[in-house]
Amino acid sequence: MCRFDPGFLECRLCPRECRVNRFEPGKGGYAGFCRQNHELRVAYIGPHFGEEPPLTGTRGSGTVFFSGCSLRCSFCQNYQISRDGMGRTMELRAVFKSIVEMIEKKKVHNINFVTPDHFFPYVFRLVPMLRKEGCELPIVYNLSGYQSVEMLRIANEYSDIYLPDFKYSDPALSARLSKCKNYPEVALQAIAEMIKQKGFLDTFETGAPLARKGVLVRHLILPGKVQNSINALTTLFLEFGPLLPISLMSQYTPVVPAKDPDLNRALTPEEFDQVYSHALSLGFERLFVQFPEKNHSQDQFFVPDFTRDKPFPTPASHDSQCSSGNNP
Ligand code: SF4
Repeated sequence: MCRFDPGFLECRLCPRECRVNRFEPGKGGYAGFCRQNHELRVAYIGPHFGEEPPLTGTRGSGTVFFSGCSLRCSFCQNYQISRDGMGRTMELRAVFKSIVEMIEKKKVHNINFVTPDHFFPYVFRLVPMLRKEGCELPIVYNLSGYQSVEMLRIANEYSDIYLPDFKYSDPALSARLSKCKNYPEVALQAIAEMIKQKGFLDTFETGAPLARKGVLVRHLILPGKVQNSINALTTLFLEFGPLLPISLMSQYTPVVPAKDPDLNRALTPEEFDQVYSHALSLGFERLFVQFPEKNHSQDQFFVPDFTRDKPFPTPASHDSQCSSGNNP
């Protein structure tokens, strides 16, 4: 990585726009909100079977989990890497070699960069390296939804599929849990840009079992925050219409003690039903739905442990995501 890369010298890689020099340590040793300096840090590279069926397929999605996060939600299910910064510093070439090895040995269906925003300059170099090596797998960006349109326009050339979250419709909630009051407006603009670039997830049009291009929006239902979910779905429907592919997730598991008592428990079946019924009543036609009764026996599967060599136990079957509506 170039020592003078402007992305790290006055960082505006995400909408926080900290404008810090990530080559220099700041308060507490970290310059910006994401708590990552200019060095590439990675927590896990390997197949993951917990994505939606068109991404997981039969051999898994080839994930690259980066350390740190520009959102750092208080309830993050991957808190070990997003908040605690677990992972190791790696040279770009070493990451490239690990990905190539994963492709060759595991035959994964895609390359899935999970929360790459704060390392975008590295990712934008990795993708051409992979293409030059002959890799034609779809490049997936697995995102928080808190991305700037400016960065997404650069990412367009280096991506095929976007998996953005739309976490909050309520700015007060996003301010409290993720320290960003402007999440709803920023995420809506970001998702609009992603759809403009890639369209909706293509499997709904092609009928193919595996996705090659497009956008799938995810929403994790939080316990005690049903109205946030209902309003988020309504907003998405009004903005993008009934054909927007949505993944409704009920896997929330308390991982660290939260100040908000709701977040210290799992979602109830009644809460899930309220949100799911609302999605159906709105008329969304392309839904992936993770039903809660499936999760409780699979908590271990959905909450990764990055202290292990394999943070995600390989399930006996890969049907962790159920689907309804017009799914392939
Ligand atoms: S990537 Fe990190 S340092 Fe850069 S603007 Fe975002 S939070 Fe701040």
